[in-house]
Amino acid sequence: MPEQLDPSADTGLTVFRCAACDAALTGALRQLPAVPPPPFYAWWEAETPGPSPATVPTGCFAVETGPCGPPAATGTGVVPRERVPGANGQPLIPRGPKGSIVLNPDDAFGLEVRHASGACCGATPDCGMNQLCACGTLVATLCSDCCLPYELHLAADRVRAVRVRPPAATGT
Ligand SMILES: [Zn+2]
Repeated sequence: MPEQLDPSADTGLTVFRCAACDAALTGALRQLPAVPPPPFYAWWEAETPGPSPATVPTGCFAVETGPCGPPAATGTGVVPRERVPGANGQPLIPRGPKGSIVLNPDDAFGLEVRHASGACCGATPDCGMNQLCACGTLVATLCSDCCLPYELHLAADRVRAVRVRPPAATGT
C-alpha cells in the first residue's frame, strides 16, 4: 500500500502521459526528493530468477539528476547504480540524457517491451529505450533483469507530467 499522504501537504500528485498520444502511462505518483539507493538483493542466491526488489516504492517517482543510459564510456563521472562493467573492468559511465523519471515498473501501464539488448530473464537498459507506448513511440527504459535494480526510467522528453489533485483524505 502506498503510504498515506499528509493531507496538510499541498504537494499534489503527478500522472505521466505519453507526449505523442497523451495516453496515461502511470497512475498518480508522489515525487521523492531523490532516487533512493536500490535495496540490497543477493540475486545470485535467489532460487528463481526474476526482478530484484524495486528501487522506488510503489506510488512514487524520483528524477534522476545524472545522465542515464547510452551512449556510455569509461572515464570520470557518476557511476550508475547499474554498474555496467566496461571492457577493462572499469565501470561504464552513462552519457545519455539527464533528468529521466525513475519509478516502480509496477506503477506503469500500457507499455510494451521491445528488447533492445539481450538479458537473462528481464530487460536491460544497455542499448537504450525498450518500452513502447501503445502508439508506437519509445517512451521509457525498463531495467528488470535479475542482476539489475528493478526500475523504469521514463524519458523526460517523451512524456508529459500532469499534476493531479490529491485524493480526498479517507478514514478521518
Ligand atoms: Zn503514446
